[in-house]
Amino acid sequence: MSMSEDSDYDHSDHMEDDDYDFGGYYDNDTDDLDIDKPKKSEDPEYFEYELLQVEDVERLLNEEVEVLCSELKIDPYLSKMLLQVHDWQKDSIIEQHKRSPSKLLVDSKIMPALKHQEDAGVGQKECSVCFEQAMADTFSCLTCGHIFCKNCWDIYFQIQIKQGITTGIECMQKDCHILVPEDFLCNALSKPELRDKYTQLSFTDHVKGHPELRFCPGPNCAVIVRSRELKSKKVECSHCKTTFCFRCGIDYHAPTDCGTIKKWLTKCADDSETANYISAHTKDCPKCHVCIEKNGGCNHMQCTKCKFDFCWMCLGDWKAHGSEYYECSRYKENPNIANESVHAQAREALKKYLFYFERYENHAKSLQLEEQTLQRITSKIQDKVMKNTGTWIDWQYLLDAATLLKKCRYTLQYTYPYAYYMEKGARKQLFEYQQAQLEAEVENLSWKVERAEITDRGDLENQMDVAEKRRLTLLKDFLEI
Ligand SMILES: [Zn+2]
Ligand SMILES: [Zn+2]
Ligand SMILES: [Zn+2]
Ligand SMILES: [Zn+2]
Ligand SMILES: [Zn+2]
Ligand SMILES: [Zn+2]
Repeated sequence: MSMSEDSDYDHSDHMEDDDYDFGGYYDNDTDDLDIDKPKKSEDPEYFEYELLQVEDVERLLNEEVEVLCSELKIDPYLSKMLLQVHDWQKDSIIEQHKRSPSKLLVDSKIMPALKHQEDAGVGQKECSVCFEQAMADTFSCLTCGHIFCKNCWDIYFQIQIKQGITTGIECMQKDCHILVPEDFLCNALSKPELRDKYTQLSFTDHVKGHPELRFCPGPNCAVIVRSRELKSKKVECSHCKTTFCFRCGIDYHAPTDCGTIKKWLTKCADDSETANYISAHTKDCPKCHVCIEKNGGCNHMQCTKCKFDFCWMCLGDWKAHGSEYYECSRYKENPNIANESVHAQAREALKKYLFYFERYENHAKSLQLEEQTLQRITSKIQDKVMKNTGTWIDWQYLLDAATLLKKCRYTLQYTYPYAYYMEKGARKQLFEYQQAQLEAEVENLSWKVERAEITDRGDLENQMDVAEKRRLTLLKDFLEI
């Protein structure tokens, strides 16, 4: 919708109508000035998050510790331990505290249910770990009362930290699960460099345990993402450009959910041998049999020799790939498979998997090729600008088209794991219908982007619009919010 379309609207007639959608552009609580982006209410992928640095997060965690301290009137070390144990769920801690503070501490493995009675004594004492005799005042214990010599605590902590364990270190006594507080550990630890390592590791633990925080999975990236909602939504790190799912931290995978994509990726890894033969870069023209190499992302192929238009996936005539009757993305199961032999069923299962895998994989490859197209377009524009045939602004639409193509194809790629695991029925039919529509429009867009210079601008922009609409429709109907 454009601003001018809104101007036809007579506001005076509808003053009372609070529900009227002003198109989001008038929405005061959005600071998103980019009006090309879908509006908050219309965008099924909309997600609010912030990118933080380590110092910001340290400050944030300290604030949370302080808040709980003052709410429950407890020491900071206790507050920190409680938050750690309860994955930073402050409200749940306060709730439990209201019911019974002592039960909370026992459940949190901070206080023992029953204290071990051992006389700390005076004078000489023997440590039950190292059997060394030492003065009683060099021994210490946690709230549980299990007493050990300081040297043993020190060595024990060193080993734990070297193994990467910090926030979960328990008492040395067998079968005692009382947690070691930070200050107790730091007092016992003789090596300052391990103290630093401890601080670092426990910070990592805190971020990992915190439902609102996630490390950017980008290589060597120190950014930490924060969102108040733990959802499978797309995060883009502006620092390292990595895009990922906030909930599970792997490559963004809409419309497939986190559990399904994990299952799919595990299956693909297990079956990689079987699927290997698929990675062909050349196929023969189905009409004149000349060998054709695929060097673009588009699956609509045209034979260089006989000019036959065909589909790279199924080698069928491209004419049968219009959006009204696009069948190439739909797997047709044998309706009588239940009556077939076990072998036939196994073969069918493999056939089905390969069908989905082939398409999933092919889109991934197309994405790589279309990345090259994007680079090519960028340098072409640079050329044009240098030669004074237009400015960057004049040619920006070509880049926009190539960028949108990538976005649409990405979603398309991840429709295949979704469809693979879907139960048969009306919902699957609807999904496959929308998937086919998206397939057809993405290939049309790809075809036009590869021929961007000879494609009419209006035609290209229209195609962008159609493809993005198909993508959003599918996500709106099937992306779990
Ligand atoms: Zn000892
Ligand atoms: Zn103990
Ligand atoms: Zn990053
Ligand atoms: Zn996920
Ligand atoms: Zn041919
Ligand atoms: Zn096809």
